[in-house]
Amino acid sequence: MPQYDFDMFTIGAGSGGVASSRRAGSYGARVAICEDNRIGGTCVHRGCVPKKLLVYGAHFHADFEDAAGYGWSLSEPGFDWKKLQVAKDKELERLDGVYRRLLRDSGVQLIEGRGRVVDGHTVEVGGQRYTAERILVATGSYPFLPEVTGIEHAITSDGALNLQELPRRIAIVGGGYIGVEFAGIFNALGAKVMMLIRGDTVLRGFDDDIRAMLTQEMRKKGIDIRPETFVRDIEKRADGTLSLLTRMGDTLEVDAVLYATGRVPQTKRLGLEEVGVRLDARGAVEVDEWSRTSVESIYAVGDVTDRINLTPVAIAEGRALAETLFHDNPTKMDHTGVASAVFSQPPVGTVGCTELEARERHGEVDVYVSNFRPMKHTLSGRDERTMMKVIVERDSGRVLGFHMVGADAPEIIQGLAVALKCGVTKKQLDATVGIHPTAAEEFVTMRDKRPDPVADAAQDLGHNARQS
Ligand code: NDP
Repeated sequence: MPQYDFDMFTIGAGSGGVASSRRAGSYGARVAICEDNRIGGTCVHRGCVPKKLLVYGAHFHADFEDAAGYGWSLSEPGFDWKKLQVAKDKELERLDGVYRRLLRDSGVQLIEGRGRVVDGHTVEVGGQRYTAERILVATGSYPFLPEVTGIEHAITSDGALNLQELPRRIAIVGGGYIGVEFAGIFNALGAKVMMLIRGDTVLRGFDDDIRAMLTQEMRKKGIDIRPETFVRDIEKRADGTLSLLTRMGDTLEVDAVLYATGRVPQTKRLGLEEVGVRLDARGAVEVDEWSRTSVESIYAVGDVTDRINLTPVAIAEGRALAETLFHDNPTKMDHTGVASAVFSQPPVGTVGCTELEARERHGEVDVYVSNFRPMKHTLSGRDERTMMKVIVERDSGRVLGFHMVGADAPEIIQGLAVALKCGVTKKQLDATVGIHPTAAEEFVTMRDKRPDPVADAAQDLGHNARQS
């Protein structure tokens, strides 16, 4: 039995790496983790946490406006971007300290510096070599920038979270998670926001009704969403203005351009391929259901494996691995029924199949939709609606998907994700007594199925045949 410095050496102290290392450490494994940036990774320092703080900050704009309908009179509220930045950065600094303490308390040794795999049992950090029985690659992902002339003038979400000044006009390229979240933030804080998307609606991959509804709600808030728009080149003028030329020949002038065009796995300069770790076409580490790579002693979790790229998934993958390796409890990560949320304004929450996926995979389905004006806005006067959608397998009555756009959607969908995991049926939803008055109660009071487009089409065909 060879002697190693550690039982596991983790490269990358983000969500997946920290969770796995801490769980392994709690089972008595000798674990080291290396990191060349702040501790906590993308989610804590360049993603979920700072983004959500900015979403909270931005939301006050609507709250101040809505308060008037409830009898409040306020003098014109002022906003200071720099103050919000300072407060946010202070919180991130605190979280870096929290993560360091958590690692220490779990007995995990933190080694600061960039790690590189030398062989199946050796990692080099800052010229020093460490041996380990197992190596865990948890290096995450970074923003992808397409090849566009002048792309060096664009910022990514990393830059958008740390802008010195709030831009007066900003163009956002990409209509995915990051694009819609930042569009909501900058719009509410007073910037003129233009979104340039390739399709007709935002959030490809989400349920079509959700996509259409969010696109419409964002437009109502003043976000200029331009469909089927492709940037050809970006030019910086002497006064700092950016001039975007589209393929259609339009010129758009802005103060900043944010590219939110996806993320790519961070596998560069890690020595992975040199030691035989297979990567896929996108550069992601290929793993089996146990998160094991093509090299027996090397594992990978989180965005670097490009499975479901969400923080809680990376954490669950990391913990499952520690259970398997160090607690004699073989655990595979279950990637089904993972809920997700988009902190757009209004936000989106979703779990399970979209209507399209449900029809493709399960055949006949019943669809229930509720679209209403939230009670809060009866007095605020705000023109904002909420939509909820439940998709049910017709034969079994099992719910296949819950989707929502509207205030508190992420909070509401979390509970429904538990129900979906437990195999909830429409009958059980109907037997559940709602909490009144809430928006969430709509999910247990929907009675009317949406007309079935498949049956309607068949009926039309029959009708036409009889007519001819
Ligand atoms: P997404 O994959 O969600 O969206 C990318 C967007 O960019 C799409 O609208 C896509 O268009 C567009 N796009 C891709 N390539 C190009 C190109 N060459 N030119 C123009 N447009 C392009 O990526 P994001 O960057 O928004 O987010 C990255 C990941 O981060 C997400 O997938 C998610 O896993 C994670 N994330 C999760 C959050 C959450 O849980 N709330 C929040 C933020 C990020 P098209 O649809 O036409 O392909």
